[in-house]
Amino acid sequence: MEVDLHSHTDFSDGLLSPAALIERAEKSGVKTLAITDHDTVDAFGSPGLAGRNVRLIAGIEFSTQWESTGIHVLGLNIDHRSDAVSTGVRFQAEARLARAREIAEKLEKKGISGAFEGASAESVGHYIGRPHFARYLVNSGRVKNMREAFKKYLGDGKVGDVRKTWADLPQVIQWIRDANGIAVLAHPLKYKMTRTRLKRLLESFTRDGGQGMEVVSGKQIPQHTAAMAEVCESYGLLASCGSDFHAPDTAWSELGGFSPLPGHLTPVWERF
Ligand code: AMP
Ligand code: MN
Ligand code: MN
Ligand code: MN
Repeated sequence: MEVDLHSHTDFSDGLLSPAALIERAEKSGVKTLAITDHDTVDAFGSPGLAGRNVRLIAGIEFSTQWESTGIHVLGLNIDHRSDAVSTGVRFQAEARLARAREIAEKLEKKGISGAFEGASAESVGHYIGRPHFARYLVNSGRVKNMREAFKKYLGDGKVGDVRKTWADLPQVIQWIRDANGIAVLAHPLKYKMTRTRLKRLLESFTRDGGQGMEVVSGKQIPQHTAAMAEVCESYGLLASCGSDFHAPDTAWSELGGFSPLPGHLTPVWERF
């Protein structure tokens, strides 16, 4: 696909710098790329963004929760210099810091010391998240790889899965809209909800001003695309697609490496 509206740099938990990401996007044939780091827009102030044959869309991926489920909302085509984004980013950064300290305390009780400092050292920007704790656990020899770190310590229901710290869903949608962006529900299939529950989420989401959803997220089977297309259409939402690229060498999420949106949907980029 020539349009990829979901990607990460090393300002959140991606491995590439913004310049390296855009270079890779260009080489992969991507013509429009949104950088959507977790809770930060620092990537847009970094050097090496211009001069590529890629249209860069300013975006963000806000963490929030709905009922008991952690969910992610993309803000696409935002004014990343707006007061609303600054307010949102500041709020989420504080929440992340408090959460990181709590994660470290919990790991300490499991006999893992120095996790806060270790995770901080793994992050270049203001974002500190579970992937940085995972890298610390790997680099300090506590686990073999990232997968094991999430499976043992950081994944759903494990000690490091500290919740209820983010701004709520109406708030993150409002920040995005106040920044003239479009609020898009990220990777709806990742939450492992029943279809009924996903529809309830979308009812709240649209009532609160959400405007779109990701119909295609990375490589996915055609049945999933068809199911998400149907949901998207039934809620009158704009359709988005993206790789959720974090790092090279992950075959299921390469820049632009996914199927096109079904033709009857309204692509979100028509509004950019
Ligand atoms: P956080 O923002 O701190 O909640 O961290 C969430 C991020 O961790 C996600 O955006 C993923 O990139 C990453 N992640 C979540 N689950 C896993 C997993 N099982 N293995 C590797 N990375 C994961
Ligand atoms: Mn991530
Ligand atoms: Mn996400
Ligand atoms: Mn993402």
